[in-house]
Amino acid sequence: MSKRGEEKIILVTGGSGLVGQAIKKVVETEKREGEKFVFLSSKDGDLADAEATRKIFEKYRPTHVIHLAAKVGGLFDNMAHNLDFLRQNIHINDNVLQTSYETGVFKVVSCLSTCIFPDKTTYPINETMVHNGPPHNSNYGYSYAKRLIDISNRGYYDQYGKIFTSVIPCNVFGPHDNFNLKSSHVIPGLIRKLYDAMERGDKEFVVLGSGKPLRQFIYSLDLAKLFLWVLREYDEVEPVILSVDEKDEVSIEEVARLIAKSFSYQGMIRFDSSAADGQYKKTACNNKLRSLIGTEFKFTPLAEAIQETVAWFQNNHGIARL
Ligand code: NDP
Repeated sequence: MSKRGEEKIILVTGGSGLVGQAIKKVVETEKREGEKFVFLSSKDGDLADAEATRKIFEKYRPTHVIHLAAKVGGLFDNMAHNLDFLRQNIHINDNVLQTSYETGVFKVVSCLSTCIFPDKTTYPINETMVHNGPPHNSNYGYSYAKRLIDISNRGYYDQYGKIFTSVIPCNVFGPHDNFNLKSSHVIPGLIRKLYDAMERGDKEFVVLGSGKPLRQFIYSLDLAKLFLWVLREYDEVEPVILSVDEKDEVSIEEVARLIAKSFSYQGMIRFDSSAADGQYKKTACNNKLRSLIGTEFKFTPLAEAIQETVAWFQNNHGIARL
């Protein structure tokens, strides 16, 4: 409970996005006394603008903040716009953290990503390695902006004793994802591509890249539950990785086949190796998380989560982000 009043007021920036909508769904189904959530979208104000950010905080007077808002994109979007990703995210993050401090927010949980870790590294990656070397060339703008959140959190604790912390999710997917062909991540991008290919009656499903890279994927609803655990129970400033187990890492080829299966697609799948693959792997270790929450937390099996996401896309094609 916050000291300001009886109720925790939890402001979720980026509340209309993939992760924000998953948190909304979980809190609606598992309501808790004494918690009021406010889910923001960019329509509530541009968080890259300091004045707009202040107005939002003055309006809702949050005691806690889950900070998700970010300029987010897939490999090809990042490669083409590294400067935009850097500047936009630096502004958003600085405004949210500094306004949280100035308005007396007790706790902020921000969001990093496993794709900001050093390109040249040993595996598995853990929380102590965020700043150990340059990130992959494809997304250095997004990565350095995200890394600065961790540096800022350290500063807010050292100078003001604030518990501003962060989590490091692996690749997220689920309902309400971005299915735009130019800016999506791999799973929603492939779902959209196959949906369109089947609509057109194409003879093959073309997957960009060799299909060989390995990734860990977390279902947005699983991530939402873990986010709420961090908000309520985790009081360290240092980040915690929120990822499926190392044994659950899969190749892009396996993902493409699971998507095809979910659509009952029987045609040919072709991997176009002339396109960029990005980092070969970025295996993250969730030992810290497991040591805190135990082994009883069960992640949704990938095949089931992909099936649910494909079904959501088919049923919500009219409102999906295309
Ligand atoms: P989405 O792209 O789905 O949503 C982004 C959210 O941020 C939307 O609510 C959007 O509002 C809001 N937003 C963007 N720019 C601004 C702005 N200038 N002012 C106010 N709001 C803004 O993102 P995700 O849900 O996928 O990501 C959430 C967090 O998780 C991000 O911090 C991301 O970096 C991190 N993350 C994501 C991963 C993934 O695989 N998706 C992996 C690891 C980390 P609107 O809807 O109005 O545009």
